[in-house]
This record gives sequence, C-alpha cells and structure tokens, in this order.
Amino acid sequence: MIYFDNSATTFVSDSVRAGLQELTDISVSANPGALHKLGNRAMELYEGIRRETSELLGAKPDEIFFTSCATESANTAIKGYMSRNKRAGKAVISTRTEHKATLECLEYLAKNGYEIRYVKVGPDGKPLSDSLEEELGKGGVALACFTLVNNETGSVLPFDMISKTIKSKSPSTVIYLDCVQALGKMPVDLAKLGADMCSFSGHKIHSIKGNGVLYVKKGVRIDPLILGGGQQDGMRSGTQSAVLAGAFLNALKDVSSGIEEAREKVSEINGYLRKELIERGALILSPDDALPYVLNVSFKGFESETMLHCLEIYDIYVSTVSACSAKSKKVSYVLLEMGVDRKIAANAVRLSFSRQNTMDEAKEFIRCVDAIYDQFLVK
Ligand code: PLP
Repeated sequence: MIYFDNSATTFVSDSVRAGLQELTDISVSANPGALHKLGNRAMELYEGIRRETSELLGAKPDEIFFTSCATESANTAIKGYMSRNKRAGKAVISTRTEHKATLECLEYLAKNGYEIRYVKVGPDGKPLSDSLEEELGKGGVALACFTLVNNETGSVLPFDMISKTIKSKSPSTVIYLDCVQALGKMPVDLAKLGADMCSFSGHKIHSIKGNGVLYVKKGVRIDPLILGGGQQDGMRSGTQSAVLAGAFLNALKDVSSGIEEAREKVSEINGYLRKELIERGALILSPDDALPYVLNVSFKGFESETMLHCLEIYDIYVSTVSACSAKSKKVSYVLLEMGVDRKIAANAVRLSFSRQNTMDEAKEFIRCVDAIYDQFLVK
C-alpha cells in the first residue's frame, strides 16, 4: 500500500499506540476534577501533559486548551472572540482559500451581522499585500483569520508580511492562525510567531483522532464555545481526558524533532514526483515554494475522481480535494480562487506525504501512473 493522503489524516504512530497503554491505566483513569487521591493523580498527569505540550509549542501552560479537533479550536477562537469583543469592530478579514472549519465560522458570523472581507490571493495562493492593505484600510477589523500552510496546495502564508501589515494598519486586530498543516513540518514557536490564537489537530501528526489544541495568547479574551462544569479554566468544559491530551503530546514529541531532516527527505520525494509527472504532461498546481508535504497535480485526460479510483486499484491512496469534502463533486474552491482554470482544477489530485513515506513509494507511484495511462487513457 502507498498512502499519499496524509493531509487528510495520518496513521497512528507506534509511540502514540504504545503510550495509550500507560494513559489508560486504572491508576490514572479517575476524573481529574475529583477530590480524592485518584482524582489528584489524574489531574497531576493531565497538568503535566498540558505543561509539556505548551513547552513544545512555545506557549505558557495556561495558553493551551485541549479540544476534540482543530475544527472545534477554530470555532472556539473565531466565534468566541467575536462574541466576547463586541466593541472591537464589526469586520473580519480572511481569504476564500481557508479550510471549511474557518469559512463556515465566517459564514455564521456574516449571518449574524458581521462583515467578512476577503483578501484576494495570487496564483501561488498567497494573500496579495495590496488587497490586504485595502481591506484593513476600510477600518473596524476586529479579527483576521489565515492559514499557515494550505491543506490543498501546501502554499505557505507569508506570515511576517501579514502580521506586520496588520500591526501597522490596524494594531488592535487580533490574528487567528490555522496551524494544522504546519505542525511538525516546519518550526512553529508560538512565543515568536506573533499570532494571538492558533489551532492544531492531533490526527494530522500521527495521533489518534479526537484531539486538538487551541492556543489563546494571554490577555486575549474569548467566550467559550462549550459550557458546563468549567474545566480548563472555563474555556472548554467537559471532563479532561489525559488519554486524548497525552496522545497529542506523544505525537507532538515525535514530530517536533528532526523537522529539517524530514523536510529534506520529503522534498526529494516531492521533487522526483514533480519532474516525472511533468514529463508525463501533468500540471503541477502547488506553487514552487510550497511546503513539500503537499503536491497538487492535474493529470492529463483523467478527472480527479477517476484518477483517485484508478490509483486505488494499485493500492495507492490520494485525495481529490480536502478530506472533509471528498464526497461532494465540486471543483476545489481553493484552486479556483488561485485562478486555476476549471477544467484543469477538475483533474486535480492531492498527494500529501508524511515523513514515513519513501522514495521507493514515489517510484512505484510513477510506475502505476504509467500503467494507468497505458490501460485506461482513451486516446
Ligand atoms: N484546518 C486545516 C488546514 C485542515 O487541513 C483541517 C483538516 O482537514 C482542519 C483545519 C480540521 O481539522 P480537524 O479534522 O482536526 O477538525
């Protein structure tokens, strides 16, 4: 099997699997909120996990909240900030290339009287600075929502430019940054980054599903999305799960080391595939300077879904657009927004890698593409 669908989800790593044994031991399985000593032990474990997670992300422990997924983190950050800070302004800026986790929150805000201003992106998927300045210049921007690495193309946000422009044109604007596809693939140090709120997802870094992280910088006030017993400083109620938080931490530990070596290895795979696929008439839709973990490619003569199923015959797994919308027949809104022709976008397939992929897999992939062209292309 060749799994090139790591932006949709990753497989659970050996260390995360092994860690689950310890994390589910009876001795640490009580409710961390309980007053008895079993509860204290569970809370100690949970708080230790929170501390270590925050250290690895470059944050303070009380700036980190465990959620069920990045979608929940995005909802909490975006809706929670706008709900709490009604006097900060009625406008939010973003792009139309965000993940649905952000776009649907913006849609919700628009229905509730907020003005969403979309910054244009260039053919490389990066927000255009003129457009950013124009939208900020209209005033009243409470929140800016961007994504560090685009999940469909690997396009990397010029975050320095974005945050400097925001800080100079609209200093009170708070920045929410989706870091889901960046974590473990490029250094993310929240103390230096300059974002006010960030989201992360465990299952994209070889953890189990059901765990995410929300970062909220000290001083930024938001309303919680989930109300209840007031756990996690009232930010996210619900009995804390050391199992889910610990699985996230174990995955994070693994991907936090060797980032450069992994990137070099994946770059080689990406470079090889780009060259071979171009020779076969394919168009590469990921920008040249994209993060190498994502390669969006439009195959000549095959619609996206047809190619996906042809590859499946060879036990190769890829995506057409992002996983969340894999069942709908729509052409990628991200590619269209970048100015890609609809017919070219209709043939787009996303290959996405993890550090576990190998060059041998890339070579086998090309052999299978050749076989598919020989067997199925109607000439
Ligand atoms: N943001 C980006 C960029 C993603 O790729 C994804 C998942 O596809 C999400 C957010 C949502 O992540 P989760 O599945 O943890 O809710």
